[in-house]
Amino acid sequence: MMDINQFRDHEQVVYLHDKETGLKAFIAVHDTTLGPSAGGCRMWKYDNEVEALNDVLRLSRGMSYKNAVAGLKLGGGKAVIIGDSGTDKSEALFRAFGRMVDSLGGKYISAEDVGMTVEDLELIAEETPYVAGLNKGAHASGDPSPFTATGVFLGIKAAVKHKLGKDSVAGLTIAVQGLGHVGYHVCRQLHEAGAKLLVSDINQDSVNRVASDFGAETVDLDDILFVDADVLSPCALGAIINDDTIDHIKASIIAGAANNQLARDDHGQALMDRGILYAPDYVINAGGIINIAAETRGAYDVTWVKGKVEKIYDSLTVIFERSVSESRPTNHIADELANEIIQAARKS
Ligand code: NAD
Repeated sequence: MMDINQFRDHEQVVYLHDKETGLKAFIAVHDTTLGPSAGGCRMWKYDNEVEALNDVLRLSRGMSYKNAVAGLKLGGGKAVIIGDSGTDKSEALFRAFGRMVDSLGGKYISAEDVGMTVEDLELIAEETPYVAGLNKGAHASGDPSPFTATGVFLGIKAAVKHKLGKDSVAGLTIAVQGLGHVGYHVCRQLHEAGAKLLVSDINQDSVNRVASDFGAETVDLDDILFVDADVLSPCALGAIINDDTIDHIKASIIAGAANNQLARDDHGQALMDRGILYAPDYVINAGGIINIAAETRGAYDVTWVKGKVEKIYDSLTVIFERSVSESRPTNHIADELANEIIQAARKS
């Protein structure tokens, strides 16, 4: 079922069914107050158009909030292609999608998301300049993951300062779930800063690498969320904070890269009730979109990127302090902060 209220604050939603290539895709432009809408394109085997539409509406709103709190001059948008990323990809399909993006005249800038690769983006970029996150070209920004990891590391430090009153993670135990592109670099920075690592990943090679590179201790997949640690850093999956897990989490801080960590919005309140400080995911993991945003400004400037990523520490500190003074969960404060930034820009 489609909830029509989902549309209420979107500026534009476009659907394309290109019979020749089989492309079925939605682009949702949520808000362009701060600038052109930007957000990745996801390719997913949705069961039907309604499911895809619900997803693109939710994800594009999330991008507005993420870009606003990250201090970017970008609005929120997202695209979804309905299809199996393993079997349904073709050059013609991505070119048709590129023409769809181009038809919006720059109102939406696309990038990589689940099911998409940089090679797919390069095909899209054959048809439109409104693509970012490329490996090649004058403004290419390359892999965003190390910047996401730096933001997560700084976010962990901000949470540790707020919750434990410490300026450093040295001597703390940090549990990291997921040792992929982001998780590996989070572990590296934590290790260099003197933290003790407990790690888990479904990929044994990734576990072995982090164990050998950073002296991390391996934990069973089913136990990583519940170990005795100062900080839990989810860097794999969404919805890991849910009715089944919340009561068993022992860490007093949750701060990691994974998107959509809370299964439901009210799990933010549940964490607060248990005295667990939660770093809102879209605030702490904004390093990647900051790096991609650098491409939209013209020549790629790594100093600009680093400056913006460093501000993640300050944004989280503001959110944590407001959460305490207003006795409201951090995820609500983050949404409110984003709305305030967008409203202020609209007024001015
Ligand atoms: P990735 O695919 O490179 O790594 C994810 C890792 O999680 C993989 O090593 C995988 O084996 C592991 N994993 C999957 N299921 C697991 C499980 N049940 N238990 C333990 N490990 C499991 O992805 P990534 O780019 O490192 O991103 C990690 C998370 O951060 C994702 O949720 C992603 O959406 C989010 N994120 C990434 C970026 C970025 O710049 N890459 C930016 C923002 C948010």
